[in-house]
Amino acid sequence: YPIQLYTRSDILTELLTVGRGRRVGVFVSKGGTGILFHTLLSASKEMPPSEELMLQLHSLLAKVGPKDRKFGVAARLSGALNVTVNLIKQNLQNPKLLLPCLQVLRVYSTNSVNAISLGKNGVVELLFKVLAPYSKKNTSLLKVALDALGALLKSKTNARRAADGGYVPILLALYADWHRNDARHRHMLIRKGLLVCLRNITNIKLGRKAFVEADGMRVLYNSSTECLPVRTLDPLVNTSSLIMRKCFPKKRLPLPTIQSAFLFQLPYVPGTGPAGRTYSQGPGVDDVVDESDDNDEADTENDTENEEDEKDQQSPNDDIETDLNKLHPKKGPCRPYEELRVYERFFVELSEDFQVSQVSVLIRRSPPRPIIVPTAQAFSPNTRSLSRAYTRTPSPDHREGPGARAGGRIVGRSGRSAASRRGGGAHRGETRRRQRDQADPLAAAFGGFVRATLGRRGSNWSSDCGSEGPEDEAAEGAVLEVPDTALLLPLHDLDLYVEMVKGTLSVPQYAEVAYPDYFGHVAPTFREPLLERVYGVQRAKIFQDIERLIHPNDIVDKVVYDLDIPSCPVIEDDGESLKFNSQFESGNLRKAVQVRKFEYDLVLNSDINSNHYHQWFYFEVSGMKVGTTYRFNIINCEKSNSQFNYGMQALMYSVQEAISGSPRWVRTGTDICYYKNHFARSSIAAGGLKGKSYYTLTFSINFKHKDDVCYFAYHYPYTYSTLKMHLSKLEALRTPQIYLRQDVLCETLGGNGCPLLTITAMPESNSNDHICQFRNRPLIFLSARVHPGETNASWVMKGTLEFLMGSSPLANSLRESYIFKIVPMLNPDGVINGNHRCSLSGEDLNRQCLLQYLAHIQRAPLVFCDYHGHSRKKNVFMYGCSVKETVWQSNISATSSDLQEDLAYRALPKILSQIAPAFSMASCSFVVERSKESTARVVVWREIGVQRSYTMESTLCGCDQGKYKGLQIGTRELEEMGAQFCVALLRLKRLTGLRNHQHLLDLESDIIGSQAKVVSCPTTYVLDEDEPSFLEAIDYSAESNDEDVEAENEHAAEVREHPDLLEQLSDSDNHRD
Ligand SMILES: [Zn+2]
Repeated sequence: YPIQLYTRSDILTELLTVGRGRRVGVFVSKGGTGILFHTLLSASKEMPPSEELMLQLHSLLAKVGPKDRKFGVAARLSGALNVTVNLIKQNLQNPKLLLPCLQVLRVYSTNSVNAISLGKNGVVELLFKVLAPYSKKNTSLLKVALDALGALLKSKTNARRAADGGYVPILLALYADWHRNDARHRHMLIRKGLLVCLRNITNIKLGRKAFVEADGMRVLYNSSTECLPVRTLDPLVNTSSLIMRKCFPKKRLPLPTIQSAFLFQLPYVPGTGPAGRTYSQGPGVDDVVDESDDNDEADTENDTENEEDEKDQQSPNDDIETDLNKLHPKKGPCRPYEELRVYERFFVELSEDFQVSQVSVLIRRSPPRPIIVPTAQAFSPNTRSLSRAYTRTPSPDHREGPGARAGGRIVGRSGRSAASRRGGGAHRGETRRRQRDQADPLAAAFGGFVRATLGRRGSNWSSDCGSEGPEDEAAEGAVLEVPDTALLLPLHDLDLYVEMVKGTLSVPQYAEVAYPDYFGHVAPTFREPLLERVYGVQRAKIFQDIERLIHPNDIVDKVVYDLDIPSCPVIEDDGESLKFNSQFESGNLRKAVQVRKFEYDLVLNSDINSNHYHQWFYFEVSGMKVGTTYRFNIINCEKSNSQFNYGMQALMYSVQEAISGSPRWVRTGTDICYYKNHFARSSIAAGGLKGKSYYTLTFSINFKHKDDVCYFAYHYPYTYSTLKMHLSKLEALRTPQIYLRQDVLCETLGGNGCPLLTITAMPESNSNDHICQFRNRPLIFLSARVHPGETNASWVMKGTLEFLMGSSPLANSLRESYIFKIVPMLNPDGVINGNHRCSLSGEDLNRQCLLQYLAHIQRAPLVFCDYHGHSRKKNVFMYGCSVKETVWQSNISATSSDLQEDLAYRALPKILSQIAPAFSMASCSFVVERSKESTARVVVWREIGVQRSYTMESTLCGCDQGKYKGLQIGTRELEEMGAQFCVALLRLKRLTGLRNHQHLLDLESDIIGSQAKVVSCPTTYVLDEDEPSFLEAIDYSAESNDEDVEAENEHAAEVREHPDLLEQLSDSDNHRD
């Protein structure tokens, strides 16, 4: 036997050395692995087994293993696992035999079932006997042992075994030792191997606990800090950082509840939906963090045979609508006509007969609660002059109460009492207002200068707040150089704005106006490029976060602003902290904590009557010092990624800059990044069984001016009061040729009117023909701001409205071509109260009834477009609906009659891509997704039968194509987009206006390119998150699992499908050793 065996293995060795990899492949395909295992088993029965033969067989197995997918299973079934393990046990001091055995063990261990079985047989403990402190000897042995151990520790049972066995401190000590002694970085892979073991053990709670108790945070923090200067050590730093982030003790948000600080008493509380869920919770439920957050190992006792618990990501195609019935627009309203009839009043133009006496009625056919519109003549743009700010006398209606407000904060009307603050403080009292005044930073900065002059300008906006004391009179007569932006901002008017604010009802009963909204925003003339991200920013920020644990003495932890404190959100001022405020329209800061001397954690308020949707922010900062860098962290963001990682900066508005002639929002901030943080998100907030983490948006600011008042916002703010001001100014632009009607679509729960505009041209005369032409103009239906945080949509809408009300010949013929029905702000309450996504009822809105009415009277609009903002993509683009393109994407079989569809839906976006520089056709999608079933776009297309039904998404960030490539988007570009949308409609009209329908199709095809071409390259299916993964992906995506994207793991997805690939990968690793 022995002789035969020798001979056979000699032959095998020869076979395998000739031809190398390819030979191995052939060998495997012929079942060679099985023969090897069989031989191994027979040889193991020899007493004693031949060392030489075992050495040879293991060397062969080590070569074959990585090439054979079934290797792990075959090894287990043949009983080879125990043979190898026993050999290792008996040969710990025999490196020559130990090495090939460990190499084979490494391959065994990558099979998860083997890993569990090996763990039961004490292999984890066995491998720890191989590990050793720094030495130049046997490094390849150590490397292979670490690889095997790392693979075994992926099993949670094994990880638990290691943690229980006290091996975490040992691994840490070994790592520290190798870090210290491997000064020339010759043994990166051993160091990495140790970290991988730690990484896998810390996937379980017990492991994280052991890690923290063994002072692991400090060990890895210190070693990483020393590694930072050497770029080649990045893999070590990144893995260390990943482990530290995982082990960073989860903290709760510093809040009593995640529900909004404000409560709006709904007329009824819905049983379902976010509001229902939130409010069905008993009082006193701690929803900031809950136990489920820490129970993620509940199921770990039983490792399953499945490779990890990670499921393959849902294929994006899963979301495509494949039900052909749902892909065909259905006609006919779902509601009975009796219900829809009430909407008739919004379409009086369709039955108007234009007798002279009716015209004035027509302009103000007033809804139940009209928006307060001031007399227009005083604000005619023509009569304004640059000196206006100095010479104008205040209009009488401003003089209604005594005492000017400090710092230009304007007291509006005190609202209704439908709302209350949480935490016992039912009403924001005078006391707090006075404290705010005393602490007013601008007053401090400019002495009586600003106070008094603002007082003079709009003397006493204060109506019910009372006098603030005698110092107001003292400075009477001083001059305020407020920026006069009349020429630059024809639609802006400071006094009018204040008037509008008075009529705006907010739940917190805001009494202040933010400067930016008051002074207005003049778009800067300079370019604002996308911020180039410096490598390692995220890592640096995370290390700073970890330093909170490492250097606890630096921590100030002082609450400087807190809406949850009943009487007063402002904390007393010792001059060492910034001051915060956001108690104004669209503001939503809830709490500010000074973490370190120049670093602040900020918590955003939830949407009212909801407990999440934080992303939008708008707040004021003052009391800053010059020459220092402040770091701001917004710590309760919820989206999993953000354009802040891809060049977007936040916006800042400096009041000092404004007063000195540059009233504008500018893109600001350095060291910006967005990453998952250590604040636990309760299962309620996460909307699921398990809680998750929040995300941090961090940015750093160097303030230019001492004692400035600066505002920060997610995007250019656009308040409801701003809209009302703009509408009022636009109305003043109306000429006799323009038909403009402002209806109130509905009154919101908060008591604010939701305007509905009708814009078209007056009929040329009241002759039958002309009236007929008037009534038969196709309708265009536009809406915006269903999501309050998407302020960019309002700026696009402003561009559209201004164009429509303009005097250009284009505007003229556009008005003569269509009747525009526009709802410029679908969710006024959400906008006013600083919500990101919801209305006061905590639900998304829809506006279907109007459209159903139109469908019923056979007047479905030619174009429906809902303006939105997109937080994760660049450019402006459209989503539309096409049966064909949906079918193409989903591979469902469809008959040719299913695909009868002309290309009308593509015409408008195509035109836009030709004339609007920010618009990108490549980003458009015309696929109907199941998850978008209830969006206005899909509903209007399916239920109202509007073929050209779109969502227009504008980036919050910037463009990566066209004229604005590489630049962040500003209000100028957004407004331009809105204007170009109008121009595109005019071009569309030229196409659709042609009588011959076939001719029209030809023309559209002309524009679009041939149909065949479209077929060959339909637009791609657009994922929500389709940004390329960032260089620093490891830091970014750090899940508490094994999600780190490392060089050797870049095929992770493949590996999940084909676990044996991992073996090949680790094999190639081996060659590097
Ligand atoms: Zn949206």
